[in-house]
Parts: sequence; C-alpha cells; structure tokens
Amino acid sequence: MLDAGPIPSGSTGDGPDDHALVAAARRIGVDVAAVHADDVDHHGRFPVEAIAAVRAAGLLGALLPVQHGGAEATLAEVAQAVTALAEHCAATALTVAMHSIQVACIARHGHPVLLERVAPGLVAGELLLANANSEVGLNGERRTSICALEPTADGFRLTKQASTVSYGEHADGVLATARRHPDSPAADQVMAVCLPPTMSLEPCGEWDTLGLRGTCSRPALLSATIEPEFVIDNYADVFVQTSLPVSAILLSSVWLGLAEGAASRAHAAVRDQARAARRADPDAPAPTSALRLAEATVCLHQIRSMVAHGAAEYERCKDGPEVATLRFASMMDSVKIATSTLAPDVVRRAMAICGLAGYGNASPRSLARISRDIAAAPLMVGNDRALLASAQALLIRKEL
Ligand SMILES: Cc1cc2nc3c(=O)[nH]c(=O)nc-3n(C[C@H](O)[C@H](O)[C@H](O)COP(=O)(O)OP(=O)(O)OC[C@H]3O[C@@H](n4cnc5c(N)ncnc54)[C@H](O)[C@@H]3O)c2cc1C
Repeated sequence: MLDAGPIPSGSTGDGPDDHALVAAARRIGVDVAAVHADDVDHHGRFPVEAIAAVRAAGLLGALLPVQHGGAEATLAEVAQAVTALAEHCAATALTVAMHSIQVACIARHGHPVLLERVAPGLVAGELLLANANSEVGLNGERRTSICALEPTADGFRLTKQASTVSYGEHADGVLATARRHPDSPAADQVMAVCLPPTMSLEPCGEWDTLGLRGTCSRPALLSATIEPEFVIDNYADVFVQTSLPVSAILLSSVWLGLAEGAASRAHAAVRDQARAARRADPDAPAPTSALRLAEATVCLHQIRSMVAHGAAEYERCKDGPEVATLRFASMMDSVKIATSTLAPDVVRRAMAICGLAGYGNASPRSLARISRDIAAAPLMVGNDRALLASAQALLIRKEL
C-alpha cells in the first residue's frame, strides 16, 4: 500500500516528468488497477481497490493549493496521472478525472468557507466527489437545468433527477448544477456542493453498458439541503473558466491512456512477430505490422501533443481574460473532439496489428475491454454538442 497523506510538490527525481503524483499513479496503475481491471469490467463493479489506493496516496487533493494542504499540481501533472491510470483501468482513471474536475471548480470558484470545510477531507483521501450535471429531460445539454435551488430559512434545498452520476454510490459528496431560483430561466445556473449528512443519492436505474462498466454511472435522485457558502455562484463563469477546459483535458487524458494501452499491446505483438521472422531468417525485413504500428504512433503522438499543449495553454491562460474567450473555449472543445476521434482510431489500428490475439477476451493481448471503453469517448460530452458550440462561435469570431 502506498503511503497516505498529501503528495509533496515537485519531481521525484525518477525521470523528467515524474512528479510524485504521476509516479504514484503509475505505481497504482500497474500494481492495483491492472490487477482488478478485468473483474471490474466483467462484473460492472466500481474499482474499489484502485480507488482505495488513490485515496491512500493523497491523489484526491492534488489540485488543492499548498495553503490548504494540497500538492498544487498543475493540470498537466494531473493529466499525466490520469493517463497512467487509464492505461490499465479506464474506470479508475475516469473516476480520478471527474473527481479532479470537481476539485478544480471548488478550488478556483468556491467560497473560502467551502474550501476550508472540504480541503482536509480531500487531502486525507476521505472525500471523493461525483458530479450530477446531466438531468433527466435534457439529454446531453450542459448549460441549462430544470431543477432549481429552493430557498429555506438558512440556505437552500435541491431535488434533482440526475440522469448519470458516475460512482455516485461510492462518492462522499456530489456537485450538481441547478437553476439559481425556482423563477430563474433555464440557463441561469449555479453549482451546488452537496455533502452528507444533508445529502442523499438514491439510485433509480442501472448502468449496464458496453464499456466503462466500472464507473457505475447510474441515474439517481439527488436530495440535499445546502448552506449558502456551499453554492458556487454563476456557473456560466465556472463553465468557461474551469469546467469546460479541465474536462476537455482530463477526459482526453483518459482517451489517451486507452490509446497508449492499445498501442503498447500492438508494439509487443509487432516485436514478437519480428523476433519469430528473424529466427527463421536473420535477414528478414520488418514485418508489415511494423508499418501499421508506425502509422498508429503518428496518431498517438498527435493525441499526446494535443493533451500536453492544451494543458499548458490552460495553465498559461487560466487566470487571465483569455480563458473566457470564444477562441479558447473552441480550442478546448477541439482538443476533446480530436482526441476522442483519434484514440478509437489508434485502438482500431492496434486490433488490426494484434489480430485474433487482440480480438479474444482472454488473451494477454486482448483489446476487447479497451475497444468497448473507448467507444464512450465521442459520447461523453457529445462531440456534436462541442462542434455545434464551436460552429456558433465561428459566426461571431473574426479570427479562427
Ligand atoms: C461513461 C460516462 C460517464 C458519465 N458520467 C456522468 C456524470 O458523472 N455526471 C453527469 O452529469 N453526466 C455523466 N455522463 C453523461 C454525459 O456527460 C452526457 O450527458 C451524455 O453522455 C450525453 O448523453 P446522450 O448521448 O444521450 O445525449 P446527447 O448529447 O443529447 O446526444 C444524443 C444525440 O443527440 C444529438 N443532439 C441532440 N441535441 C443536440 C444539440 N443541441 N446539439 C448537438 N447535438 C445534439 C447528438 O448529436 C447525438 O446524436 C456520463 C456519460 C458517460 C458515457
């Protein structure tokens, strides 16, 4: 088991990109997530072992500022950690990605009272945060809500028919969008931080899906009473400044990790084929599959570059006016659309290289789980919605 407690900031000295957070994620990926990934997928169960290791390693508070006990990791570092986990278990990686998006929203937009209340739990690994933005009746629409905060004597009450709450039954708190007031228009949203004991999440449906079965993203009825300081005002700002870019990068990091996992299986297959050919004929040329692998790595490098560039751009712009521009939002949408289009392509190419060994469920080179998991990439925040947002912005923007 990895040491509990906050991750120190800075490099481990193990390698150029080995921030302690990334090194911890790599170890959890290999030692824990990989061991249970097939069982998690097969039984559609939450990756309890890997998330216990994530909690113990202090990864839940990685994005918190140092003064609140966090590691103050950059988005690039969290993205690398998510990718390292996704290579072995996408359900674990998506859980860490979605939790980190919630932490980023709280850290950057939350009231100081809220930060003080949640920071110790995050740092101690006791507060896994889920998200209940999707709502029954809205499909994939993110920027409107049906439910509304109802004022009470000392705060608010919220009841929401959430259509998809990943790991809701395993979470220690839920962030949910809602209209500001029962009289507010649909797009006048706030973000409510719902915590026990004044929160309940009652599952009201199943999550029996093709892939990402371990996220257990069941529909649920969310009921909560919320203190005024636990309402993050003006979700429109939260969305453009934090939720949209951080989601784009961290979801893309999951798709990248799946592509990395597929490509490494293909790489091993190609090397096996080359060794076998050279045993028969020491002068045998590189197998055709090596060419296919070279093509796949072109896509893989594109995804790596886009995620790294997107994360760096976010760090550069996050505290200035540029983050709120249509150009920046479109760039982040483009990262998500591109990675969620290219990553399935890498997996498909890897399947062609591995052949039946990739197609089989039980083979060590199996790409079955990865192929099913990656199918969610264009759906999770629908690519058409992101494209439509970019298309509308292009009508207003004067420069591409
Ligand atoms: C693994 C996974 C985990 C998830 N976890 C969570 C979670 O924890 N919390 C949460 O809140 N949500 C979660 N979601 C939900 C997710 O964020 C999206 O809301 C959901 O995937 C969209 O569902 P949809 O495809 O039915 O809807 P849509 O986005 O509505 O897409 C359905 C179809 O409608 C078309 N369409 C309809 N209207 C439009 C429009 N106006 N613009 C563009 N296209 C349109 C699309 O092109 C598409 O063909 C999760 C989803 C997945 C796959």
